[in-house]
This record gives sequence, C-alpha cells and structure tokens, in this order.
Amino acid sequence: MIDWNKIDTVMLDMDGTLLDLNFDNHFWKEFVPQKYAQQQGLSVAAAKQELIPRFKSMEGQLEWYCLDYWSDALQLDIAGLKAEISGLIAVLPHVTEFLEKVRASSKKLLLVTNAHRDGLDIKLAKTCLQPFFDGIICSHDLGAAKEQPDFWPRLQQQQRFDKQAVLFVDDNLAVLAAAKQFGIGHLVAVAKPDTQQPRREVSGFLAIDDFRELMVGL
Ligand SMILES: [Mg+2]
Repeated sequence: MIDWNKIDTVMLDMDGTLLDLNFDNHFWKEFVPQKYAQQQGLSVAAAKQELIPRFKSMEGQLEWYCLDYWSDALQLDIAGLKAEISGLIAVLPHVTEFLEKVRASSKKLLLVTNAHRDGLDIKLAKTCLQPFFDGIICSHDLGAAKEQPDFWPRLQQQQRFDKQAVLFVDDNLAVLAAAKQFGIGHLVAVAKPDTQQPRREVSGFLAIDDFRELMVGL
C-alpha cells in the first residue's frame, strides 16, 4: 500500500486519526449542549438547535478549534468540561503498535493537529502518546488551520521536510485536500474515525480502516 523506502517523515493528525473521535463528537454534540442548556435555562433540544448551526458555521476555521473562543462565546469553561469527561478519551485500535514501528524505523514522527493546546494537553496526558513524537505541531502556533493553504508552507519553514518524502494521515478530507494542493507526497485518509459510527466511504484518497494496513513493509 505504501512504499516505505520513499518516506522519511510521518505526520499524523490526532483526533479521529490516533484518538477515537467519539470523544469530540460526544463532547460537542451532547455534553456542551447539555451544559449550555442548564446555564441558559433552555431545553437540551433548544440548545442543540442553537449551537449546532453555530458550530457548523465555524468549521475549518482556526476559531473552531480554539477552546478560548468557545469559552468566551458560550460562557462555559470548555477546557474544564473536557477534563470532566476525559474518561471517554481513547486511542484507536492498532495505533500504539503503529507508532512503535515508526519509532523503531529511523523516520521522523510528527503530530500535526488543529487541536488547541489545552485540549491537546488533556489528551496527551490521558493517552501517554507524547513520547512517540519528535515534534508536536499545533496549527494555532502557526496561525492557520490545516485546511487553510497558509498552513503548509509555514509548517515546512518550521520543520524543513522534503514534501515528496512525507506520509500524512488525517481523517479530515478538507485537510488532506490542502496537503495535496501543497504537494505532500503520500496521503492517507482514516475511514473510521469514530468507533461508534459506521465506516465512511472515502473517495479521492487512499483510505484505511485501521493502522494495520499501513504497517506492511514498515
Ligand atoms: Mg482529525
């Protein structure tokens, strides 16, 4: 599936790629509307009706991933709420095995995420994945989300990689499209980012159900 001889840098997304997207889906679609409803004296249904279009309108923008933005906009302690249900944070099947194999090769391993530092810290503390990585890049630090064309040249300036020799795995097709546009050599989509949802049909990118498919030849 992947010619590993041609790859010297592996870049991985976090939510929905390494970690079960069920946590984020549950958090934004159920838990936040519940808390918002309580605070505003609304029914949960009314809170969802108000919040879901608001979330949708921010998709793909850096603010969407910014916990401070949502804490302000909703007057809720979003990082605190994340910590409250951190028990739901889970590593997807076969991820750890894959990370160990990449580590054992001489390839550079980078976590490249749109997640805000606060959410990232909670997740890394919970999952103990941090030691696997040579670097952790937050799109907030580069001032553009991974979906945005500005992100990729800024990342290259910071990390100095040969884009042809990069394997990048992400569950977000808009992000993969931006990476393709920039010229990242090897792109893979995660077809099942949320263990509680059915597998998605992915077109336009090589897609995997889990990381075992990428370990051949590694
Ligand atoms: Mg993701």
